[in-house]
Amino acid sequence: MTVSIAEKSEKYDLRVPRYTSYPTSPHFLETDTDQDYRDWLKNLDPKVGVSLYIHIPFCDEMCSFCGCYTKIVKRYDPITDYLKYVHREIELLAEALPARMTAKHVHWGGGSPTMLKAEDWKSIIEKLKSLFDIDDSSELAVELDPRTATEDYVKAIAEAGINRASIGVQDFHEEVQVAINRIQPFGVTKDVVGWLKKYGITSINFDLLYGLPFQSTERVLDMVDKAVSLEPKRFAVFGYAHVPWMKSHMKLIPEEALPNAKERWEQMEAAASRLEEHGFVKIGLDHYARPDDEMTRAMKEERLHRNFQGYTVDNNPVMLPLGASSIGQTPDGYVANVQPLRDYKRMIDNGQLPVGRTRSLTEEDILRRAVIEQIMCNMKVDLPKLCREHGFDEDFFASEEEKLQVLIEDDICTLSNGVLTLPEEGRPLMRMVAATFDTYLQKGQKKHSRAV
Ligand code: SF4
Repeated sequence: MTVSIAEKSEKYDLRVPRYTSYPTSPHFLETDTDQDYRDWLKNLDPKVGVSLYIHIPFCDEMCSFCGCYTKIVKRYDPITDYLKYVHREIELLAEALPARMTAKHVHWGGGSPTMLKAEDWKSIIEKLKSLFDIDDSSELAVELDPRTATEDYVKAIAEAGINRASIGVQDFHEEVQVAINRIQPFGVTKDVVGWLKKYGITSINFDLLYGLPFQSTERVLDMVDKAVSLEPKRFAVFGYAHVPWMKSHMKLIPEEALPNAKERWEQMEAAASRLEEHGFVKIGLDHYARPDDEMTRAMKEERLHRNFQGYTVDNNPVMLPLGASSIGQTPDGYVANVQPLRDYKRMIDNGQLPVGRTRSLTEEDILRRAVIEQIMCNMKVDLPKLCREHGFDEDFFASEEEKLQVLIEDDICTLSNGVLTLPEEGRPLMRMVAATFDTYLQKGQKKHSRAV
């Protein structure tokens, strides 16, 4: 009898990081000074430019599955106040840079960036344009909550310059939506997609979830079919991470209605197969794109990258954070802004960049990060070659190669002359393979979500 990868994987502790950075965020170190970050900013090459990530930590209702840093507000005053600080932070950041820089990618995440009023979009983009070079070829992307968007609103953000939208869909079935406290009928999503296209925002990504309460394989397939009918360019399909010990609102999720590990695996595989039947190409762990999409081309040409937003074609090594709890990176290290909001505001009032944690990178971190990124993006890495390129001995990963044997025996990966390759069956477990190269990961820790 053939034993499937799903069955074989049961013996592993699947709680491993998603590797949107290395070292991963739990290993960033608390700091009470912004000096290191300021030094890193001074080291930036003005010719390379920057990407920016702006966090809007507000929503008007808490979705029970939410894993983000956000605050529920019923009035707009706190958002107006917060934006005043973000404007000031943009100024502080621009002053700390070695020169006026180009920003080719600006990404708004949350929370719900679409809590912002239309006039506030205009004013924040004008502020950015006054201090950074941003033109029509720049990508201005927003995570959009369809429940709060109207046609006038979509028109306004398009006029302000937004040209890419990522839409949280989760699942279209009402029973699932009630259980996760996110009522978003199919018609609402359909209307918003229509308006986005009407006003020229045609680069649309959908985020779908499996592993939610009351989801079944049939419902996941129905969700995929309905989502595909709206013709987005890309999908991200994530497994719901149930961590009520970290996010207390998840206690509202009926645990008895959550799919078990086997059902989660089936849902994940069903979504993947159905998206492929619809003509989408698998990208890395959990993304899907049309064959002619830039992300598909980047994957085929091995120039796909991984950053805090997941998979990206953005090859800029500099992603600067703006807003409370926002995370970014420079060639020297990672930086995470402070939370809660009162600390964020206090630091900006003091004229400080609101840095809460940093992680400078050693040469070994940079090598290990490159290995992990290639596993996550290319499903293949030539270990001796990468070691040589980074100035390490070719056999630097001898002990990791030994540790890989158990995964090799389970057909999750292969190793030949130092070239580590993941077959298609190993794709869902690529985080496990990547974790072999993570020297910071403590065995058995519960800080991370399951790999599937
Ligand atoms: S809208 Fe998004 S960020 Fe806000 S609570 Fe729901 S899932 Fe979380």
